[in-house]
Amino acid sequence: MVRPIRTVAILAAVGTLVVAIALPALATGAPASAGTAAMTSQQLAAHHAQSIVVASEAMQAPSAREQFTATTPEEIATKKAADEARALEAAKAAALAATSSAMTASVHSSMPSIAQPGQVIYPMAAGSYTLSDGFGAARTGRSHMGQDFAAPIGTPIYAIADGCVSISQSDYGGYGDTVQISHPALSGAGALASLYGHMSYRAVSVGQCVTAGQYLGDVGNTGWVSGSCLHFEVLINNTEIDPLAWLQSNVF
Ligand SMILES: [Zn+2]
Repeated sequence: MVRPIRTVAILAAVGTLVVAIALPALATGAPASAGTAAMTSQQLAAHHAQSIVVASEAMQAPSAREQFTATTPEEIATKKAADEARALEAAKAAALAATSSAMTASVHSSMPSIAQPGQVIYPMAAGSYTLSDGFGAARTGRSHMGQDFAAPIGTPIYAIADGCVSISQSDYGGYGDTVQISHPALSGAGALASLYGHMSYRAVSVGQCVTAGQYLGDVGNTGWVSGSCLHFEVLINNTEIDPLAWLQSNVF
């Protein structure tokens, strides 16, 4: 398995690597290949009148690491150190990715409210959507029980009124990623709720109470939908009513 010539080359490379790592200040006294590198650098320096010693050494070290097969305790220790260094780099990259995702989440959660507490508003900012299919529009096997607000994926969705989150889940049947809010303060004889479907991102969780205009998440195309839109419903005692008619008579 281990070819003698390759082993010698490997040992030489490891020796150079160990010296280069352990004694960088004494690199001039290093054996064969470091001397070759120094000569090459000097020749290049003579031709180009600038030093690229750092670059040539930096290029050399990783390729030596890639090639050796660990057979002696020293090699195993060196390889282990290299593996640990790589693992550390991977952990750093993962931490950086997590930080970046946390930053994205904090950008989302710092989205300003677009209404005053107690107010009733449309679920999206004026100008950010187009009304498409309405309540009662034809659907295969049933009629459409909500109002669609067509908009690009990522367009913000807001709570239409103060309330508390009763549903926040992905894959809520054909609704895809869905949020539902109960609105006790607006409930008369029947319990009023609003539902937001097909979302690409949900910023709220079940049990969380929100104020009118609070950011709930983003428009998406999850669930049974063609094109991206907010599927918006208003329910009284869990029965859908015409949400656009409700908004028109309650938003001032
Ligand atoms: Zn819809």
